[in-house]
Amino acid sequence: MIDLQTGDFLGKDIGSFIIPSERVAHVQIGNNLEHALLVLTRTGYTAIPVLDPTYKFHGLISSPLILDAIMGLERIEFEKLEHLVVEDVMNSNAPTLTMADPLEKGLKLLINHPFICTVDEEGYFEGILTRRVVLKQMNALVHQLKLKEMD
Ligand code: AMP
Repeated sequence: MIDLQTGDFLGKDIGSFIIPSERVAHVQIGNNLEHALLVLTRTGYTAIPVLDPTYKFHGLISSPLILDAIMGLERIEFEKLEHLVVEDVMNSNAPTLTMADPLEKGLKLLINHPFICTVDEEGYFEGILTRRVVLKQMNALVHQLKLKEMD
């Protein structure tokens, strides 16, 4: 819950808002697209992080990227799903945050991205900051401020 006494919501470290790595669905760079599509479909997420076997963050894979990669001129080439690997089609330019970054930085990035990956100083994946978590906290803050106003 946001501390109204300090009032410094935007200055808070994002560390307390992230979903930790062990609760985040991911795929590995060497997985084929068939596996990635299975994970995306089963979890219901449109995009998830791509990690290597040491848990270093490499990018994001999404259903639109996979569909684009197997789109032929006249048909969807489903057979490619088995042969292409995540590393070939992932977005490796996704922005990242560190746990010590202020929430203000995360908020700005969340305007254009539904979630942002958090990494340590060596690039190891630590978790994600999602719009849902931030909006939930902001909603709680707005309600607290409203109640305070009515006192
Ligand atoms: P939300 O704000 O909860 O709707 O999450 C936004 C996006 O973050 C989702 O569409 C997913 O791409 C990603 N996401 C959220 N939670 C997880 C999770 N536990 N594992 C993997 N990706 C997630």
